[in-house]
Amino acid sequence: MIQVNQEFIHSFYKRRNRVSNKGNHGHALLIAGSSSKMGAAIIAAKACLRSGVGLLTLTCSEKEKNVIFNAIPEAMISTDFEIKNQFNCNVIGIGPGIGVNQFSLNYVYQLYDNQLPVVFDADALNVISSYHLDWKNFKFPFVITPHPKEFDRLFETHATHEARMETAVKKALELNTVIVLKSHQTIITDGHHIYINTTGNAGLAKGGSGDALTGMITSFIAQGYSLLHASILGVYLHGLAADITLETQSEESMLITDVIQNIGKAFK
Ligand code: AMP
Ligand code: MG
Repeated sequence: MIQVNQEFIHSFYKRRNRVSNKGNHGHALLIAGSSSKMGAAIIAAKACLRSGVGLLTLTCSEKEKNVIFNAIPEAMISTDFEIKNQFNCNVIGIGPGIGVNQFSLNYVYQLYDNQLPVVFDADALNVISSYHLDWKNFKFPFVITPHPKEFDRLFETHATHEARMETAVKKALELNTVIVLKSHQTIITDGHHIYINTTGNAGLAKGGSGDALTGMITSFIAQGYSLLHASILGVYLHGLAADITLETQSEESMLITDVIQNIGKAFK
């Protein structure tokens, strides 16, 4: 197992070029949120932007547009539900708060024709497990970020975390993907190695934490990191931002919006 600590992160972290412009930092598409879960979209989008992406487009319905505009003026909004019409994006993050229904299923079906890298999280994973979709339909590089329950729904029920880790390695190799198995000590695996995170605290054990992580990993893929490095960097900084938040909040009082505000300090 490889420890994900500051030294390891420095081995691949790329400093932002002084003469760069937004076009050099990627364009992420986030498919997140639904009428009762717009918070998931806002959290994922803010974390994505705070992680350095050049441009972000967020999909939402006409009805929800104003909520997004008010919450995150930096994001572009698309009310077009055809993924293929989202030109210029170089990565897709899908899942936080989209629900498990015909509408979200239609989004996942659209990915059968997609070639961009994808981060599958939350309800996108629940759509895959609920509708028994075949992984072979996804012919593009992808990352999955399940928490233990989502992981068990996708693969099989596990009695222990160790057993789940073993399956994660096997499945990452079999599906040729990166698996971020989230827990109090998240592991990332490409099937060849297991990377174990050293940051984070129980203040993250709250709704919305995973949505922020999805935004961060999507952001790093947009910026040109490999899927593996983007996942490792996302998990590490997400946990580190939560640790920095402990300077001003307790594990109980910490909000994921506080954590997102500390992504900047985590970078420093
Ligand atoms: P989700 O369940 O999708 O909201 O994701 C929860 C996020 O918070 C994941 O990134 C977990 O690794 C992190 N997390 C949850 N509980 C803890 C904990 N006790 N210690 C550290 N990280 C945690
Ligand atoms: Mg989640």
